[in-house]
Amino acid sequence: MHLYLYGPPGSGKSTLGKILARRLDLPFIDLDAFIECTAKQRVPDIFACEGEAGFRIRETAALDQVAHGAPAVIALGGGALLSEPNRVLAQATGEVLCLQADAVTLEARVNRHPGKRPLLAVPNSGCAVPPHPGQAKPIGLLLAERASHYASFARRLPVSDLPPDVTADRAQAAFGIFRISGMGTAYTVRVGDRMLDAVGEHLSELGCGDRTVVVGDTHTLPLYGERVAASLRARGMAVSTFAIPAGETTKTVETVASLWSAFLSSGIERGHAVIALGGGVVGDLTGFAAATWLRGVRWIGLPTTLLAMVDSGLGGKTGADLPQGKNLIGAFHPPSLVLADTSTLATLPASELRCGLAEAIKHAVIGDPGLLDDLPRFAVCEPCADSAPCACLADAEWLAPFVARAMAVKIRVIQQDPFEKGVRAALNLGHTIGHGIEKATRFAVRHGEAVAIGTVLEAQLAEALGIAPSGLAAQLAARFAQVGLPVKLPAGIDLEAVQAAMTLDKKKAGGKVRFALPAAIGEVRTGVTVDDDTLSAVLRHAP
Ligand code: NAD
Ligand code: ZN
Repeated sequence: MHLYLYGPPGSGKSTLGKILARRLDLPFIDLDAFIECTAKQRVPDIFACEGEAGFRIRETAALDQVAHGAPAVIALGGGALLSEPNRVLAQATGEVLCLQADAVTLEARVNRHPGKRPLLAVPNSGCAVPPHPGQAKPIGLLLAERASHYASFARRLPVSDLPPDVTADRAQAAFGIFRISGMGTAYTVRVGDRMLDAVGEHLSELGCGDRTVVVGDTHTLPLYGERVAASLRARGMAVSTFAIPAGETTKTVETVASLWSAFLSSGIERGHAVIALGGGVVGDLTGFAAATWLRGVRWIGLPTTLLAMVDSGLGGKTGADLPQGKNLIGAFHPPSLVLADTSTLATLPASELRCGLAEAIKHAVIGDPGLLDDLPRFAVCEPCADSAPCACLADAEWLAPFVARAMAVKIRVIQQDPFEKGVRAALNLGHTIGHGIEKATRFAVRHGEAVAIGTVLEAQLAEALGIAPSGLAAQLAARFAQVGLPVKLPAGIDLEAVQAAMTLDKKKAGGKVRFALPAAIGEVRTGVTVDDDTLSAVLRHAP
């Protein structure tokens, strides 16, 4: 499948296309450049000799050629999809993203390359005579004429005031595609609402041999196992399935051993890959079993909780718990592919969804404040019982782009720091106090809830230290509360136990508790050391 970039002249399709192609390890094709190459003539000259009609014929032929070629990022001309057959072809062979910008931005950009765009009259450009008199028009007029056409594309991205790198992040989220490198072999992450049906196709592309095991838990395997297996069988693969009991108590070395046995009886060899269908528990265990089976086989992540999509399924940390503590065993072993099917979130209990939202809000605070704008969409879930799924998520078109955008923040961070040596510490926001709360309550407060409370308290700490302006903690508390997450310490919690648990963590980190603290929504300061008295005062005076 191609990634087509479309939109008015000057919307930045070529600049964005080059960045996306580099990030996704795909070739880049600029359709106008392709036409010029084939015609051995510049586009304005084609217009001058053959008129717009002649150019459009060449454009259709060029599109036909590239559309049937190898997957690429393709920047289309500003009117390439006005023709219905062209539009049908593009939509059948890829995904189209339409860039949107206002006339002022477009005019400024077009002015940088006067004469390149034959349909436009370019004011103040020194090239006052249009190459093809009678056709050129001001960009505002062209935009008005095509407004409903550009608006008719389902995937649209406003780009007027964004720098190219941010535009590229947003474009990746809109397409739902990322490529993560930095920890061994690079791998692709896809997000969408029909990913489970495409598992077989993706595995054949990766070359994963003739067999696999789908590992799920006692909730996810009955719900989605057959869909995944059918997609794999359709590609001629022999599929076995293996269900582990649902829940954190399963995350043990004994379960890992049971996975090794399942791999053995299913004939999993070096060239094969195993599949994790479930939340963070299934992902962590299957990834770790894959890391250690035959000294390492590949694994594919099919995350089905919001937390696993935006957090645990990305970054390559795998492992299991010991009775003495969580995640004490583990290995860095990134998946070979992650396919996040957001339609699975419609069966997730509301309480689990909220825990994932805590991490998504954390990502907004780390690097994408705009994510918070989508929170009211989740607020309608508030009446849902904790154990019931949020029916309001079924067929929610906005869900996949939201999830992809929340993922983008973590991906950006782990790309910069795959092995947790520096900036990745930002992802610990809310987790230092959060872990203390989890431990002090013997995990009665769920992880996501503890992260919500922890983030608010860490914002109070940041305010006390002068790192954050006063009011930030209240602002964050309102955001977590908006989706039904707690923001206050549970009544009667043993504060000394909270602090003691954090001190225990501190021993691991060389004697000092190092915090990632919010300085603003969109900015986190890492490596902040806090003395015990300040911490104690914030915990004790928490509202
Ligand atoms: P989980 O895997 O236990 O899933 C939560 C519950 O939801 C389970 O009962 C599960 O069966 C059920 N479920 C999953 N998908 C469902 C669906 N689509 N419909 C209905 N029910 C569904 O928990 P989690 O919150 O996904 O993950 C938590 C784990 O992730 C913890 O063990 C944590 O340590 C780990 N984690 C790992 C990393 C990492 O980097 N590897 C990061 C954060 C958390
Ligand atoms: Zn977390």
